[in-house]
Amino acid sequence: MLKRLGGMSRSAIDKTRSLLGSSSASAQALREVRVVGADEHPVTRKLIGRNALKVLDRLNENGHRACLVGGGVRDALVGLKPKDFDVATDASPEQVRALFRNSRIIGRRFRLVHVVYGREIIEVATFRAAHDAGEGGEVASSGRIVRDNVYGTIEEDAIRRDFSVNGLYWDVADGSIVDYVGGLDDVEARVFRLIGDPLVRCEEDPVRVLRAVRLAAKLNFSIEASTLGAMQEVSSELGKTAPARLFDEVLKLFQGGYAEASFDAVRDHDLLQHLFPALQKRFDRLDESSAAQLESLLRAALVNTDRRVSEGKPITPAYLLAFMLWPEVEEAALAAIEQGEQVHDAIHAAAEEALSEQVRATSIPKRFSGPMKEIWQMQPRLERNHGTRALSLMEDRRFRAAYDFLCLRATIDPELEAVAEWWTEVQTISDHEQQQTTAANRPVATHVWGELPTGARKKRRGGTRRRRRPSKSGGEKHPSS
Ligand code: ATP
Ligand code: MG
Repeated sequence: MLKRLGGMSRSAIDKTRSLLGSSSASAQALREVRVVGADEHPVTRKLIGRNALKVLDRLNENGHRACLVGGGVRDALVGLKPKDFDVATDASPEQVRALFRNSRIIGRRFRLVHVVYGREIIEVATFRAAHDAGEGGEVASSGRIVRDNVYGTIEEDAIRRDFSVNGLYWDVADGSIVDYVGGLDDVEARVFRLIGDPLVRCEEDPVRVLRAVRLAAKLNFSIEASTLGAMQEVSSELGKTAPARLFDEVLKLFQGGYAEASFDAVRDHDLLQHLFPALQKRFDRLDESSAAQLESLLRAALVNTDRRVSEGKPITPAYLLAFMLWPEVEEAALAAIEQGEQVHDAIHAAAEEALSEQVRATSIPKRFSGPMKEIWQMQPRLERNHGTRALSLMEDRRFRAAYDFLCLRATIDPELEAVAEWWTEVQTISDHEQQQTTAANRPVATHVWGELPTGARKKRRGGTRRRRRPSKSGGEKHPSS
């Protein structure tokens, strides 16, 4: 597929090596440059989005070098339709800004330009040099990059990217692909390899560990051995990553249409503890069958999310996040209800507690935590309410999400099946029939939340008629097992 045109630009390598100093680890990352002409690779203008092409063409027409880089090139090379386009250029952020009215300069850690077309954003980055190459870069004592705004040549830009397969440039001027880091070979071998010294590159930015896991899962690539070794060594550093940055990664893991594969990869690499610590602790203490049950609940939610993405339906992170934290919320709320707490108050307190623990790992913006709480609050109402009160629940703007949530819970909890079916049925019938159906009795999962008669919301003492389901609370691993 790809014809090798070796030796074209040894001088470029030599020039960059001398710029970086021959002993520099970054210099060793440079391979012999390889340029593959437009007719010798599968990345065509057709595969690249209209808006990305507009940006690339305008930069090029104004005398700047403009390339598509990163996921767009990588995905197109392996036959996936790229969804997101990143542009790299020798124009400064100010020059880019001046060319596009619909643009803004963003970021501190990386200064970038966003060119905005409705809901699509084309990210334009100026070629950057390695962080140790001059003013504008900043490295903390841990080896982490704090600021990374040293502009440089395209060769320097290539070696500061994370993985070789992410360091390929599609040049709009002639449609060629330029490879300074051995990325084309790695695309062919379907392998993720950190550019340069893998340990140094992981320590600089531990989030690369998550990126490798996510992207390898998405593309079904393997991870090269020394890259994997470095990832294992550095992964505990993920716990020190800014919660907001980890939240961005969570969104990419679970919203990109391959949430199930990402979740499996995150668990296989033992990274769940950094993203959802309470969930990992729960998996650790559950016995095998309870862990399998919890896993099927989460899997059902992940598969559902992937299906919606593939059907082009809207998704909200609130839904999946609500599942990740639900076992904590449910368990704590049930315990409080056992103690006589009102259902609403019990869920409220349990939700606050679960969220405050979670935001130490990944932030959760209020626009998502609000709907999550509403989905949780509606669960006992969906399980308990019947009669005409059920009709008003259907008017609630969170009904749809809460109902979907209940249905997925019902797929692994046979005791909820009848309730979920009732709600499904009542939505499909006429208004008149709805009145009749809701007036009649229907199955109510009283075993879960209890059906507290009005006025009976005092503290209960001693035994209760409500049964706690063994799967959630009784299935904990025995210390000796
Ligand atoms: P996708 O968009 O499919 O998630 P991507 O590789 O395009 O994958 P982006 O986050 O869009 O991911 O980043 C674009 C490019 O920027 C990457 O391909 C890589 O070259 C570079 N990059 C992103 N994050 C890092 C990082 N943490 N360290 C070094 N380079 C990075
Ligand atoms: Mg991208």
